[in-house]
Amino acid sequence: MTGPLTLEYIAEGNANIVYTFKPIADEPVNLGVRRKLLRLRKDKSFIQSTQSQYITFQREFLPLFRPENIVEQTLITLDESLIESLNQRLAEHESTGARKDVRHGDRLAVDDHGLLMTDMTAQHGEFLFEIKPKWLQQSPDAPRDSIRCRTCALRVQRDHMKAGGAVIPTRGGFCPLGLIDVDIEERRRAFRNIIEAQANELSHTTVGEIVNYLAEEGYQVLSDLRKHQAQFDKHGLLGRDPEDISDDYSKAMTLRDCMLFVKGSLNAFANTADIRLADLDFKHAHPDKVQRWKSTERTLVDQGWYTSTEVDEGAAGT
Ligand SMILES: [Zn+2]
Repeated sequence: MTGPLTLEYIAEGNANIVYTFKPIADEPVNLGVRRKLLRLRKDKSFIQSTQSQYITFQREFLPLFRPENIVEQTLITLDESLIESLNQRLAEHESTGARKDVRHGDRLAVDDHGLLMTDMTAQHGEFLFEIKPKWLQQSPDAPRDSIRCRTCALRVQRDHMKAGGAVIPTRGGFCPLGLIDVDIEERRRAFRNIIEAQANELSHTTVGEIVNYLAEEGYQVLSDLRKHQAQFDKHGLLGRDPEDISDDYSKAMTLRDCMLFVKGSLNAFANTADIRLADLDFKHAHPDKVQRWKSTERTLVDQGWYTSTEVDEGAAGT
């Protein structure tokens, strides 16, 4: 952490704050932190130490994927004075509007370690595609006569709630099963819909190149993801006691909540593309959380969101 570098705040979530390295003066950035971000954990009782998060990630998730397809983590040692000065700056950011109100008061934990992570933000001339692929296989609890996958069933149910029960056509949302369809044309169509919704200023040729890349390489990564989602949740939740729900189920839920980032140069996408899964942070599920998962699934099944032909879903069905 020495050398002519300073940390610049980029973003924060409930549990972490992410910084980028900026050189002081015009010196080139130290090779060790090139294309890396620094993730530091917040001071909250439910957040484990950075070292223990790192060990869990190495043990539970890293072995599941090719290393080049996962946002890399490197554990580094920090000075206590660094956290102090960053916390001071967080307080200053609150008056300048750089932090959302809901995050005000959150501070970094005094922790001996931080995590360097692959920087997936797009630089000039690059395009970043990002999606949360969600459930890539049907829920084991879904009825046999389902006409909708788990993700589509939940989307239709939530849209219906938001509309206060009124029947209105839903906006957007995609069916994850299209992304891993065995038919490449189906996959192309699914990825194209998402890209066109994310970036409408791209040329036709560039979109075509990105679509082809995703329908092949993206498909490979998502197929691995689907395999592990299924492997860690073979039996579903309904009809089981919350105490019987193992860490494997929580792992499956983490794999259903991770992000896929694909970044490449606009003029040579396939040759420069970097494709990685992120947000693989394992948490032991609290019984309350298992209860919430179970009640969501119960609602989808009992109210017929998997099976009803009477609701209009804007997105393509399954
Ligand atoms: Zn679907």
